[in-house]
Amino acid sequence: MYAVEADPACPIRIAMLGGTFDPVHHGHLRSAVELREMLALDRVHMIPAQVPPHRAAPGVTGMARLEMLKAGIGETPGLVADDREQRRPGASYSVDTLASLRDEFGEQARLVMALGVDAFLKLAEWHEPERLFELAHVVVIARPGHSTSPDRALQALTQGREAADIASLFATSAGRLLHLRLPSRMDISATDLRRRLQTGLSVRYLLPSAVETYIQSHSLYR
Ligand code: ATP
Repeated sequence: MYAVEADPACPIRIAMLGGTFDPVHHGHLRSAVELREMLALDRVHMIPAQVPPHRAAPGVTGMARLEMLKAGIGETPGLVADDREQRRPGASYSVDTLASLRDEFGEQARLVMALGVDAFLKLAEWHEPERLFELAHVVVIARPGHSTSPDRALQALTQGREAADIASLFATSAGRLLHLRLPSRMDISATDLRRRLQTGLSVRYLLPSAVETYIQSHSLYR
């Protein structure tokens, strides 16, 4: 789907930022832009789950969440609204998505699974968590109001994987863990946005105006 330059001296760097994106907001989008800059990534693939395995089914369809993501990204360089989980039946396991990215970009690609610290704290409960590290590096993004206190299962999963810096992360194609504090840490959550929309409060400047327009014109989150 996406062309890869086969240059063994400079492997492509791709990140996946998965999620429900119900709806996408500036916390997601600004994090994706700053992640790309900080890690010198070729692209960040933002991938809405069709059927999120670890939470209640969203009230808004996967296709509508993908459409909002496309509207939110617009022409932003290096950000991609990736529909691969919409095309796959059944639960949207990240391990399957990473396997599909690995197939597409090859063994040498530096593949990153980026996620907020709230999601990271539950990583040991995900489907095939060890295999996630066989397929990709895990990069954890700090979020205001969420501290990092890993439980025993997460400590066991991540033991010995911590990379000292970005250069050592990208010395290999997968298997390491890095915590990042991006410059703009935004206290925005989709839960709060849905609450605001349900109660008629403003969401202006918390998400892109194109996403707000989509929500209003499709009467979502009422
Ligand atoms: P909800 O409130 O419905 O749980 P959310 O705002 O956390 O939604 P998700 O779609 O669940 O959004 O998040 C997708 C990914 O983006 C997750 O890894 C999450 O931790 C991360 N993320 C969400 N909001 C932010 C934010 N404000 N800053 C950094 N990362 C975020």
